[in-house]
Amino acid sequence: MPSRRTFIKSTAALTLAASLPHGRAAAADSATSETPWYQRTLRWGQTNLTEIDPLRIDIGWWRAHWKRTRVQGVVINAGGIVAFYPTEVPFHRRAKELGNRDLFGELTRAAHDDGLAVFARMDSSRADEAFYRAHRDWFAHDADGKPYIWNELYIACVNSPYYQEYIPSILREIASRYRPEGFTDNNWNGPMRNQPCFCTYCERSFRARTGAALPRVANWNDPLYREWIMWNYARRLEIRDEFNRVTREAGGEHCIWVGMMAGAQNWQSRVFRDDREVYRRTPMIMLDHQRRFDTEGFQHNAETGKRLHSVGGWDKVIPESIAMYHLTEHNFRLAMKPEPDVLQGHALISGRIAS
Ligand SMILES: [Zn+2]
Repeated sequence: MPSRRTFIKSTAALTLAASLPHGRAAAADSATSETPWYQRTLRWGQTNLTEIDPLRIDIGWWRAHWKRTRVQGVVINAGGIVAFYPTEVPFHRRAKELGNRDLFGELTRAAHDDGLAVFARMDSSRADEAFYRAHRDWFAHDADGKPYIWNELYIACVNSPYYQEYIPSILREIASRYRPEGFTDNNWNGPMRNQPCFCTYCERSFRARTGAALPRVANWNDPLYREWIMWNYARRLEIRDEFNRVTREAGGEHCIWVGMMAGAQNWQSRVFRDDREVYRRTPMIMLDHQRRFDTEGFQHNAETGKRLHSVGGWDKVIPESIAMYHLTEHNFRLAMKPEPDVLQGHALISGRIAS
């Protein structure tokens, strides 16, 4: 069996622990099988599958790891940019080394057999060039008609069939075939505030709302630009509502689509995520708030938890992801770890560069 170090090098892992006030944690302890999974699953593990993992993953090792770390639920890569199961949705590209395997299905079955809740993890934001060439109009373009590209992938437009048909088809396929407890999404908000889209879907939608053309300049003193901001926030809420409708319809009343939120308010604004409205609509938040800045220490976790619970309600379960790796030597996390893990983190850096 491969060593733990091998696995940390090959497959990044994250742990997530829910932020809960004391009384709430006590309530969770006394949860019964009647309590929905999202109110009693507090300790999560996440495997970040890569496209070559179908060749090398050791599911037995992961099951032992889940048991050793006493997680109650696992987050498993399912689809979006890349599929880890034999999808039938056109342009939903299967992972390079997936072959005939159904890796998402195998891991989901193993987790369910072990009594764990499963989050199917999506990334609903971008696609490769082949997809872009086939459906240019599904992707965001700037005022000069150039597509927005990030890490060689094309960013999808939130007003296009990518979000209206393509992603819902995938959610339906996964929910009905595998029955995961729910869905997370690494990146579901589409273009950011500094990436205004001028495609025909956007032009049409904005004109229907305001009677005006899309503003060409970011000018906060212009009421039309402020309307553009509000229109963008509203669209993200519509997407959340629609994805939840689809997953509940295909996977049952508790099959919720949770997405992913950030803890930094500045970032939330740049990606048009309305904390107050989103928290009002969901019983659970998955929070990505890992990076540590010079002026912030570990206490920042508590500060963020206090702020988000104040806004979103103290009854909300908010698991926060903490990586078991460092992306770069300068990208520190809001976590502490034993020395062997730090050393393995550095090994991972060289491993990633080499691959
Ligand atoms: Zn657009």
